[in-house]
Amino acid sequence: MSTRCSPTQPCSLGSHDGSQHGGRAHGAAMTASGVTEPDQAEPDQAEPDQAEPDQAEPREAAPPMAGLRRPDRLFDGYALDLDGTVYLGDALLPGAAATVRRIRRSGSRLVFLTNNPLRSAASYAARLSSLGIPAAEADVVTPLGVLTGYLRRRHPGGAVLTVAEPLVDETLAAAGITVTSEPAAAGVVVVSFDRTFSYPKLLLAYRAVRHFGAAIVGTNPDPFCPTPDGGWPDCGAMLAAVEACTETRAEAIMGKPGEHMAAELLRRLAAPPGGTAIVGDRLSTDVSMSRSLGMTSVLVLSGATTPRDLAGSPVQPDYVIEGIGQLLPAGQLLPAGQPDGTAATPASTTASSPANTPATGSLR
Ligand SMILES: [Mg+2]
Repeated sequence: MSTRCSPTQPCSLGSHDGSQHGGRAHGAAMTASGVTEPDQAEPDQAEPDQAEPDQAEPREAAPPMAGLRRPDRLFDGYALDLDGTVYLGDALLPGAAATVRRIRRSGSRLVFLTNNPLRSAASYAARLSSLGIPAAEADVVTPLGVLTGYLRRRHPGGAVLTVAEPLVDETLAAAGITVTSEPAAAGVVVVSFDRTFSYPKLLLAYRAVRHFGAAIVGTNPDPFCPTPDGGWPDCGAMLAAVEACTETRAEAIMGKPGEHMAAELLRRLAAPPGGTAIVGDRLSTDVSMSRSLGMTSVLVLSGATTPRDLAGSPVQPDYVIEGIGQLLPAGQLLPAGQPDGTAATPASTTASSPANTPATGSLR
């Protein structure tokens, strides 16, 4: 199954951070309809899972770039962006699985973070697991998970009219939130990345907001989803249409770098922000969010941001590395409380498990 944006498949691995992965994405093939579709990924590009965590120093393919600053410490918690950071397209990036294993064995907390509203957290967890990084639903923070919590708090009992694909309706309904197609009944219009966006949908949203005073909530701010064939219009585009015709701004947008996803991230990490790090490939989302939260930022150059982008940006990260394989300090990482490292506790796959209790690992 394709895992990027297409008219029929979720953009499951899109970073939704509004940028192309220049020159790094897989190729694309032209379909009979003239729409380009991404090639299937080569499965052997995924990092082998057999590598021992402490033997799996990242592959060093080229001389280090100037301006890199590798973290010199282990953090109590890590928030890892997905596309462009952990994987690109259908393949893990070098060192990703080994780095995640080492973080977990150290006792540090770990969550994955994405702006993509087209898949559920459970679906992302399954995807990560299939790529060689065992993960559970609770390990992944997505806009849809944040959305249900927001609607319950801010609009309890309110019915929602959606400009979205079926997953959004299903997610809301599963959370006990009423979904309606009647503008007069809607207290909120939820706008998401919708590849079935249409004038009739826009008209219903217009009427709900303009005629009946419904609030607008967006799932994520991204204007387009990066794909090998140039990207697909994302939630930001649908949101702009609804805002334009209603002359009403969205009251909230769920994804990075907004406050709502930030709050959920801190809740999942359950560690003081000063001891945690966000690792991502985008300055405007990942690094900006870390700034607003007081977390340390680690920019990877394996995704959307090039060295030139970084040089010209007013937003500067605390650390810059070529890829996730350089995230941890150089040297042998030992599990916290196990000075000889001979009896490491098996890594957990859930944020709520004892093995993810905040702790500080040691280095030698
Ligand atoms: Mg990304």
